[in-house]
Amino acid sequence: MTQRTAIVTGAARGIGAAVAKRLAADGMKVAVLDLDESACAATVEAIKTAGGDALAVGCDVADEESVKGAVARVADELGAPTVLVNNAGILRDNLLFKMSADDWDMVMNVHLRGSFLMSRECQAHMTKEGFGRIVNLSSSSALGNRGQANYSAAKAGLQGFTKTLAIELGKFGVTANAIAPGFIETDMTAATAERVGVPFEDFIKGAAEMTAVKKAGQPDDIANAASFFCDERSGYVSGQVLYVAGGPLC
Ligand code: NAP
Repeated sequence: MTQRTAIVTGAARGIGAAVAKRLAADGMKVAVLDLDESACAATVEAIKTAGGDALAVGCDVADEESVKGAVARVADELGAPTVLVNNAGILRDNLLFKMSADDWDMVMNVHLRGSFLMSRECQAHMTKEGFGRIVNLSSSSALGNRGQANYSAAKAGLQGFTKTLAIELGKFGVTANAIAPGFIETDMTAATAERVGVPFEDFIKGAAEMTAVKKAGQPDDIANAASFFCDERSGYVSGQVLYVAGGPLC
């Protein structure tokens, strides 16, 4: 079977790092993209130590030239990227009446513009190869969340984006799906706990209590879902949004 090349954005830490390691364990060469190339070293090292092949690439997914350069470099050094996980993300939470236009734009730029630019650049390789897997990180916040007008709009937007990519690219052997995580223990949720002034341990306990399984999620829970969507055998699954949130959401 062809050894595929995957790109995972925002893979220096958190969910992206777990996804990158899982796709490498699944047999893919993995480009570990993040804003700061040197921050990708730990993920790359972990993959190489486990016997895999990985490349650290500095890239701002919201910047068109940066995305073009990064995807071209991955194609040159690792091979045509036919698997893409759009994971890079930021938070700029605030109640609507206090939210600045800059905080709105920044969140839209990283999540929506970033996923658009990365997908547009990679689809050229995918359609040429007649195979592709795109996975977008949405969120349970797509259903609405206090203090996250920008983030929930971006994450809901990613669901529409995903379904449209599935429709446009399906005939080229490319699938597009979205994962909508609930609460996952990462630096992002730790920062939210700090912002609202709750010790992270208590924040985790509160989040766990809200789920059916009475546990907070881990980055590997999301990596497992990404692995399924990126699998060669998942070619008949497209345009779906999978909530990975420890239970049904209401
Ligand atoms: P995280 O720990 O904050 O990691 C996000 C990574 O994305 C960081 O390494 C960050 O780099 C990078 N990044 C930010 N802006 C970037 C840009 N413009 N270009 C390239 N990389 C960029 O977040 P996480 O919790 O793992 O979340 C990963 C994804 O899952 C995000 O899309 C998030 O919205 C989504 N999600 C998370 C949760 C959760 O509970 N954790 C729930 C639902 C959805 P820097 O460190 O340099 O900023």
